[in-house]
Amino acid sequence: MKKQFAVIGLGRFGGSICKSLVSEGMDVLAIDQDEDKVNEFAPIVTEAVIADSTDEKALRSLGVRNFDHVIVAIGDNILASILTTLILEEMNVKHITVKAQNDYHEKVLSRLGADEIVHPERDIGIRIAHNVVSKNVLDYLELSEEYSIVELAAGHTINGETIVDLDLRARYGCNILAIKRGEDIHVSPRPTEIIKDGDVLIVIGADDDINRLENHWI
Ligand code: ADP
Repeated sequence: MKKQFAVIGLGRFGGSICKSLVSEGMDVLAIDQDEDKVNEFAPIVTEAVIADSTDEKALRSLGVRNFDHVIVAIGDNILASILTTLILEEMNVKHITVKAQNDYHEKVLSRLGADEIVHPERDIGIRIAHNVVSKNVLDYLELSEEYSIVELAAGHTINGETIVDLDLRARYGCNILAIKRGEDIHVSPRPTEIIKDGDVLIVIGADDDINRLENHWI
């Protein structure tokens, strides 16, 4: 059965989520208090409705309670985002994802019981900073406050070396989880695996170790 999503707030973030969900074939109810936004998304999503999400009655009458996943993508209006999350929690919505504007906002949202809290601007900022520091850093994923996963372009300088030769574990305390080679992905590569120019190494480690590795990666 198709999963049913509701997206509240059709700014850049919420709007882009709506479009991606629709392209994945999902049912999407899009909600915004701004009529122009709703008109913009009406031709794209399953249903688009003008409503103020801080109005509990309005949310109830839309049947938001029965949706599998509700995404609160209200940007600057932190109070509206908090109130909306509170109402959704009280309605026992199965899964709630909320966009947080800052750490205080996140704290309140997690107290309210949001299942998932995202910081798109902060996360993209961190990724771009890693990429600017080392051009070989293709992507960066924060796993926890201490650990991350990073995608590193192998580059020509280590072409022909093996994983043993690189010895990332001893030199940087990092481990190679997988090697991406074109469309293929080699999970848990053998130590004798030869690295080729164009390979992408997926590396896991503590943030400090990953930073050292990025700074020394040629
Ligand atoms: P972004 O930074 O992702 O572009 P914005 O803050 O620009 O986010 O957009 C948030 C959207 O949320 C706006 O279209 C706004 O009309 C909508 N919004 C804000 N408060 C409410 C609310 N209480 N109910 C419904 N929609 C809301």
